[in-house]
Amino acid sequence: MKVAVVGAGLAGLSAADELHRGGAEVVVLEARERVGGRVWSRRLENGAVVEMGAEFILPGNTAVRELAERFGLGLWDKGMRYGRREPRGGTGTSLAEMEAAAAAAERELGRSAGDLSARRLLDGLQIPAGAREALLARVEISSGNSADLVAARDLAGIAHVDDEPAPSIAGGNQSLPLALAESLGRAVRLRSPVERVVWHAEGMRLRAAGAEIDADGCVVAVPASVLPRIRFEPALPDRLAHAVAAIQYGEAAKLFVPLRRPAAPSAVMAVPERYWTWTATADGDRPQPVVSAFAGSPAALARLDVSAGPDHWLASIESLRDDLELDPEGALLSTWSDDPWVGAAYSTSPPAEIGAAFERPVGPLAFAGEHAGGEFAALMEGAIRSGRRAAAALLTLYPAA
Ligand code: FAD
Repeated sequence: MKVAVVGAGLAGLSAADELHRGGAEVVVLEARERVGGRVWSRRLENGAVVEMGAEFILPGNTAVRELAERFGLGLWDKGMRYGRREPRGGTGTSLAEMEAAAAAAERELGRSAGDLSARRLLDGLQIPAGAREALLARVEISSGNSADLVAARDLAGIAHVDDEPAPSIAGGNQSLPLALAESLGRAVRLRSPVERVVWHAEGMRLRAAGAEIDADGCVVAVPASVLPRIRFEPALPDRLAHAVAAIQYGEAAKLFVPLRRPAAPSAVMAVPERYWTWTATADGDRPQPVVSAFAGSPAALARLDVSAGPDHWLASIESLRDDLELDPEGALLSTWSDDPWVGAAYSTSPPAEIGAAFERPVGPLAFAGEHAGGEFAALMEGAIRSGRRAAAALLTLYPAA
């Protein structure tokens, strides 16, 4: 069996890895000049490693940890704690008050989350106004969207206050897609955006950057936000086209500011502005000379005027983090809303039935991507799991592989 995988993010590479290990011949077609998609590490001039996209391996994300271990990649603990961000600004609250409010929200979730939005659930709780605002900030930052659009069930994952480590891969998360691509040898073709897929029950022909590629099966592992740009002949069935169109995407940006003097691990959230900042360690206890910032939701990006560059945000960070010695000249901004191959950050609470639409292959076409990652959607974990599932489905269809 020959399988074409469209997209060399973690979803596509995980699918290709499973297929390759299952005996299939694989070709991976990637539009960009690099693998990894929304996992992209860079090094600042002062040596600090920063993550333009995915950074934290959240508690319970086992697939990404296992994969890193398989390739002998270590983890950086980072020192700071993802789940414990000191809230500043707004009505005012404390971390202890926030923690109690988050626990109340989770108790309420256990009783009756239903189809409530995160905002509705938080609005209905008897908690101090400042703590509510800080929890709303956490929801909107991490989901990259308005709390009205985030499902209450996601609160436990994105607004939990705890001290669980959320490490990243030593040297940069991009080592993981690079290791996967290397193990696939020459199967990965960069600068190969797929434009058209002509398919029938037994196989297909793909068109990518002027080349025609024949395959028996295909894993489509591109974000739902750009999937409609690929012309399928015949068109995808309505149930799938509707699911693709129904997925909502959040927006996020990151800003990395070199530090003249490295600082101890810390995590501080600007509540009204909907961003948070952190300093972290790399190897062992060695602090990285950079403060990272992450802003989430279209409203936050507009307020910080991110599309005009880093200046407005830089000024805000300078006043929020007057404990740090910033070197604004070397600041690096990372935006995704203007990225041609995703155009947003990640999916927002895809409803179960929409996620399920991607689970079954359509003829020889299987689908993967964080948006199809079920309870792990929006995360590297969801991308990896969805890729593995798509590969398993094709290997079942073509057991002779
Ligand atoms: P992608 O990584 O987007 O890969 C899809 C690939 O398809 C891309 O390489 C793209 O170029 C390619 N492509 C698109 N169209 C075509 C085409 N027509 N032909 C060929 N190739 C095509 N996750 C976490 O777990 N922890 C975090 O801390 C975290 N933080 C994040 C912060 C930001 C700012 C962003 C943007 C994301 C973050 N994520 C985080 C989410 C994580 O990055 C994604 O869930 C995951 O990497 C998605 O993988 P994917 O393979 O589904 O999609």
